[in-house]
Amino acid sequence: MAKNWYPIIDYEKCIGCLSCVQFCPHGVYDIGENGKPVVVNPQNCVEFCMGCQKGACDNETITYFRG
Ligand code: SF4
Ligand code: SF4
Repeated sequence: MAKNWYPIIDYEKCIGCLSCVQFCPHGVYDIGENGKPVVVNPQNCVEFCMGCQKGACDNETITYFRG
């Protein structure tokens, strides 16, 4: 069953600073071929954490899927 809470990156807004990748201690992100973050382990994301959105990304690029 799919995880019901994980980040979604708006690639139109993402500047590829990778703060979110460095911030998340749960290995949710990896760096994609385009140098931008990719959600590779959504199942590791902590429900309602929002740490990467509030603590790392400052341009409203990260939202969350809620199942
Ligand atoms: S912190 Fe925000 S702008 Fe920076 S790489 Fe992550 S999603 Fe993109
Ligand atoms: S919400 Fe928390 S656990 Fe999920 S990717 Fe962001 S920092 Fe990691």
